[in-house]
Amino acid sequence: MDQIDIIVPCFNEENVLELFYEKVKKYMTDIPDCSMRCVFVNDGSSDGTLEKMRELAKANADVTYISLSRNFGKEAAMMAALDYVDGDAVVIMDADLQHPPDLLPEMVDWWRHGYDDVCGKRTGREDESWLKRTGADVFYRFVQRISDYPVQRDVGDFRLLDRRCVMALRLLRENQRFTKGLFSWVGFRKKEIPFQVRERAAGSTKWNYFSLIGFAIRGMTSFTTLPLRFISLLGVAVSISSILYMVFVLTVALLYGDPVAGYPTLMTVMLFLGGIQLLTLGIIGEYVGQIFNESKRRPIYLIDEVNGERVACVGDVKSIWRK
Ligand code: UDP
Ligand code: MG
Repeated sequence: MDQIDIIVPCFNEENVLELFYEKVKKYMTDIPDCSMRCVFVNDGSSDGTLEKMRELAKANADVTYISLSRNFGKEAAMMAALDYVDGDAVVIMDADLQHPPDLLPEMVDWWRHGYDDVCGKRTGREDESWLKRTGADVFYRFVQRISDYPVQRDVGDFRLLDRRCVMALRLLRENQRFTKGLFSWVGFRKKEIPFQVRERAAGSTKWNYFSLIGFAIRGMTSFTTLPLRFISLLGVAVSISSILYMVFVLTVALLYGDPVAGYPTLMTVMLFLGGIQLLTLGIIGEYVGQIFNESKRRPIYLIDEVNGERVACVGDVKSIWRK
């Protein structure tokens, strides 16, 4: 009998939790020789999400929950659950039913055929705005080009992970988690299965353009240090052209004399160099910021409550299933 744990990070999802459990439960019982459980993570919701989780956990033996001490973000919420699950495999799903549970049997099937990481690849982003689609396109192209290991396109957190992937992810304790990159980094045998992202069942998305841009920048800077290499090369190129230009200007001045002209060129060069210096500082700053955040070595999340019990310290949690 295979034990599969479904991890569901939730932030203000009181309206969909019951529906989610109902839908998933249907598929849970459909898969032969497999027992499934749900691990909800309350990521500091300010609505009745925690209450709903308590009720669900009380009424169903195959449901448990972890409640974080505040909102730590989806990446941290997922890690909280990954740290405590003990099944043979886990599935990570959004609470809003945008990840169709009817894919579960197929995922389990591929896993039983020996794949360690069966991920949902979203097809058709027609429902999204042009800006969002183009942004995603540029982001993936760029990251794929500059990263040292293959990054999967249009693949998110919706996936089934074998126990050994979970073990591997637990070794990666960085604070600024770019989970998409971490999944790629750990490797193992991957299988992509296409799915159509559904409409959100209820509630609203927690992303806006600003947070998406932040996400993209963090993605690039946590993947690779290639932007640093790029600015070094840019510096070399600019220096060489400046020297050539200097030789040109001096020669012209010496041969023909130079009355006070050249205000436009002066301005252009100044602004150009100023721009490049700011860009360079900005890129370096992104990395310094990452170093700053990681060097504090804070825990990725703090737990307030597990399955009805208050938690004094994260180390106290032995099992998330004790009733
Ligand atoms: N989520 C979370 N913490 C956050 C933001 C989101 O746990 O700070 C959860 C949210 O409850 C949902 C999932 O992450 O289950 C995906 O969030 P959302 O649906 O807002 O993102 P989208 O589907 O629009 O990319
Ligand atoms: Mg969603």
